[in-house]
Amino acid sequence: MLTVEDARDQVLAAVEPVSSEDAMVADALGAVLARDIVAPHPLPRFDNSAMDGYAVRAGDVSRASEEGPVRLRVAGEVKAGSPGQIDVAPGEAVRIMTGAPLPSGADAVVPVEVTSERDGSVAIAQAVDAGRHVRPAGQDVRDGDLLVRAGTELRAGELALLASAGLSPVSVRKGPRVAVLVSGDELVAPEASPGPGQIRDSNSVALRALVAEAGAEVVAFPPVPDDRQEVKDALARAARLSDLVVTSGGVSVGGYDFIKEVVEELGRIDLWRVAMQPGKPVVLGSVDGAPFLGLPGNPVSVHIGFEQFVRPAIRKMRGCRALLRPRITAELSETLEKPPGRLHFVRVRLTESEGSWLATPTGPQGSHIQSSLVECDGVARFERELTVLEKGSPVQVEVWRLPDGAR
Ligand code: AMP
Ligand code: MG
Repeated sequence: MLTVEDARDQVLAAVEPVSSEDAMVADALGAVLARDIVAPHPLPRFDNSAMDGYAVRAGDVSRASEEGPVRLRVAGEVKAGSPGQIDVAPGEAVRIMTGAPLPSGADAVVPVEVTSERDGSVAIAQAVDAGRHVRPAGQDVRDGDLLVRAGTELRAGELALLASAGLSPVSVRKGPRVAVLVSGDELVAPEASPGPGQIRDSNSVALRALVAEAGAEVVAFPPVPDDRQEVKDALARAARLSDLVVTSGGVSVGGYDFIKEVVEELGRIDLWRVAMQPGKPVVLGSVDGAPFLGLPGNPVSVHIGFEQFVRPAIRKMRGCRALLRPRITAELSETLEKPPGRLHFVRVRLTESEGSWLATPTGPQGSHIQSSLVECDGVARFERELTVLEKGSPVQVEVWRLPDGAR
């Protein structure tokens, strides 16, 4: 049976980045930069004051002290937003506000706290060196610097830099459209009271949340009954309306598992079954030309399959540089055993103690144990051929999130 890594390589080879578009920076949170962005001009663009105070010639106040303040004539004022076209001649100062351009002639700013102004002159009670409290042009970014690399997910910090450099609109990739379609006769809406033998459809809720969290646009479908024709119609429609079709259920060997057959009729199957637990019967294929990923129905299998295959695929489609979750090494809190042959993904909580991470399994690990996903921080990898992981031994954890700082 295929390893998770080989299967993921195949999945990733089956999808391509979506096309880029221009977005206003104010509208680009979470979008992924399509090209390297280079600074069109320096930042700051002009020398400006880091303090409210007085722009001076440092040489004029080199002997100033509390006991012997130096008096300078106040030649005017520059506030933030004014062009600052005043000259500071020897013996003069200009009142200046934070962010205002440094007037010509001045080379330093004295903070207002060590001055007192009266009758058109200011007493300066502290010496400053040239350049003090001045933010020189280009100190942050020089003309032509690489500002943000292609493949970066834009967060507030990157967006603000692009805004400052006037790089709006910017060329980005936004989320691909991902169709989410679950199958099963037993499913009713979360708001409904299930009849005998029925269950509430939690996979639609989970998958839509996972797709949105991965940065894609959800194309939602109602649950499809276990009926070949209905499955076929729904899959064809999903393929028309999306860049990637994701399903849950109906890919196993049960009498009503029609998804695989229908995918074969509408397109093709490239792989089925991966040496992992939970989530073995994953399907990769295509439906009417759209890439298709079929996850089994068990809720934990859906989650793990999504993490291993769908999320990386979505990230490739978004043009992200990093496709996989980060891994850390943690100490395992208890001994685990399993038969060889499949890579097990053990849901864990992470806690930090004395500079190292402890991974504690979230309880029973069956593929139907949904409570194992509550406050889960990631999965510990119990590798394919291993049969025992001893308590206290190091384990690789694929991190979904780091726990909150609150203790
Ligand atoms: P299947 O892969 O269709 O054989 O389903 C495997 C298990 O997952 C069965 O116990 C189903 O009832 C359950 N299941 C399938 N679809 C869903 C869903 N949308 N929400 C919750 N459980 C589901
Ligand atoms: Mg089913």
